Amino acid sequence: MPPSDPTPLLEVEGLTSHYGPVRAIHDISLTVAPGELVAIVGANGAGKTTLLRALSRVQPLSGGSIHFDGTDITRSAPHKVVAAGLCQVPEGRQVFGPLSVAENLRLGGYRRPADEVEAQTAEIYELFPILFEKREQAAGTLSGGQQQMLAIGRALLGAPSLLLLDEPSMGLAPLLVEEIFRVIRRLNDRGVTILLVEQNARAALGIAHRGYVLETGRTTLEAPAAELLADEAVRKAYLGC
Ligand code: ATP
Repeated sequence: MPPSDPTPLLEVEGLTSHYGPVRAIHDISLTVAPGELVAIVGANGAGKTTLLRALSRVQPLSGGSIHFDGTDITRSAPHKVVAAGLCQVPEGRQVFGPLSVAENLRLGGYRRPADEVEAQTAEIYELFPILFEKREQAAGTLSGGQQQMLAIGRALLGAPSLLLLDEPSMGLAPLLVEEIFRVIRRLNDRGVTILLVEQNARAALGIAHRGYVLETGRTTLEAPAAELLADEAVRKAYLGC
């Protein structure tokens, strides 16, 4: 069930961003409530990555505002945004290949006391037993799905209050996609607030409370995820049926 707290953890209003003359996202407004799992679905090039990069404050803005946890972070530096509890798992996983799984996780907790990192690492190994099995192996030797789990685990070690996930299904075989989405759902059930952007609309809306459809840089629809999954236009455009 979607959470009942009406005060948004993330509140975005009129967000616009350009690459030179190219307008990548335009006038985007959205909210994420504490405890919610929100999916933003859209085709290749719709602006999903740009939006997440804008929220993490690594992407310059041409307009709009971002409030996170009651604070205006529109002009904050990226490291301040991370310190405030907003943490992104970038597209393509980007783990440190030569470092071991355990070392990658430790890096995620660099701002926190060692005892907290140790306790949370144990939780992550419980959530992703394969990471425990492979904890001494170089991260670069893991499969794509395992690297995605590691990237999520590393982000969790930063103790985020909002986790941004950029296309976690990218490049994964269908069975692994199912597994990753099961894990994301489980994380949310454990209280992690999640904003997920995905091309795989069926999988993302299948686990989300609420969703937005992003088309050529604009949000065109917003509704409970089950409604979007049943919407004829969404089915035709994104679900192939
Ligand atoms: P994908 O699923 O392919 O990652 P996306 O939905 O994440 O797509 P973005 O990568 O955010 O989309 O791109 C949004 C728009 O901005 C696209 O039209 C894209 O061509 C353009 N764009 C993205 N990066 C750049 C860049 N570095 N320079 C110029 N235009 C860019």
